[in-house]
Amino acid sequence: MSGGVSIRSIAPETPLVDVMGGAARREVKVHEHGFLALVDVMPRLVPQGQTADSAIVQAARVSYGAGTKQVNEDRGLIRYLLRHRHTTPFEMVELKFHVAMPIFVARQWIRHRTANVNEYSARYSILPDRFYVPSLDAVRKQSGSNRQGGEELFKTDDAQEAKTAQQFLDYLKAVEEFYPRYLGLTEQGVSRELARIALPVNMYTEWYWKCDLHNTLRFLGLRIDSHAQAEIRDYATAMLALLREIVPITVEAWQDYELDSVRLSRLEVQALKDAISGQGTRLGTDNKREQAEWAEKARFLGLP
Ligand SMILES: Cc1cc2nc3c(=O)[nH]c(=O)nc-3n(C[C@H](O)[C@H](O)[C@H](O)COP(=O)(O)OP(=O)(O)OC[C@H]3O[C@@H](n4cnc5c(N)ncnc54)[C@H](O)[C@@H]3O)c2cc1C
Repeated sequence: MSGGVSIRSIAPETPLVDVMGGAARREVKVHEHGFLALVDVMPRLVPQGQTADSAIVQAARVSYGAGTKQVNEDRGLIRYLLRHRHTTPFEMVELKFHVAMPIFVARQWIRHRTANVNEYSARYSILPDRFYVPSLDAVRKQSGSNRQGGEELFKTDDAQEAKTAQQFLDYLKAVEEFYPRYLGLTEQGVSRELARIALPVNMYTEWYWKCDLHNTLRFLGLRIDSHAQAEIRDYATAMLALLREIVPITVEAWQDYELDSVRLSRLEVQALKDAISGQGTRLGTDNKREQAEWAEKARFLGLP
């Protein structure tokens, strides 16, 4: 009895196993100083022989009740839910990550508002001297077609291009040399909250990031995409690898119905129909950006 309330403990029908195999964390190194570590999952314990996908099925069965008999094979049910954007059962799985990433990556990441975040405080503690610096052969040029992007790399076998890439790395190095001054000023009594304000955004921060599976997949869809910045894509790729072990059925369905799928507008459907009937692939608009997007999709679909 607890406060007059009777509590019963009910043993599981099948022995339970830890979805993380008893590990304290599963960690992927990202770049030289970063990492993404899965530190906890809900459900952590699942019936032997199952994965955390089972929590999705369990929740869905509550909403469908006896009606699930038609689609009650677990994999089929999860694939059906994902295909039809029946999202709430995917919110029953929670994932907690510990992440170390450059501040410029964190600024993009924090825009995903449905997560719970607790970040390292540079008011409280000194920021360690970790800087994100790409290698000389990974310095990207400004894209000509996408104002937000950098795609093509500076060629290290071209003297002029190699010089420019090196100048970029020298500039990062020069900024790094501010760090001892930051330390020195804090030692002289300047508050940490002020001393930090001139530090660059290629320094690392850390946080715990907890999010449900539905919104984690939404994060992945946006940040693994080729339009996202390469550095955050590296973290998203690491996250997908970790998720694949925890919810393999969901990840497979998500790749089939979201990641590797193509969304077509009404005009694009018309252009596809025209292509099939041999009338070419022209899109019915003069909008250059839409035309470029359709050209990319047409290539993906293998259209001439
Ligand atoms: C390639 C790329 C480029 C980008 N460029 C820019 C840029 O130049 N400038 C910029 O500012 N941002 C930029 N963003 C960020 C982008 O606009 C989104 O803020 C970010 O991707 C998070 O998406 P979200 O709002 O769907 O996610 P979440 O915040 O995780 O939200 C998930 C869902 O919950 C709903 N939701 C969450 N919180 C609220 C709320 N408070 N009220 C109502 N609905 C809510 C949203 O409608 C959304 O559907 C960029 C993102 C990407 C991927």
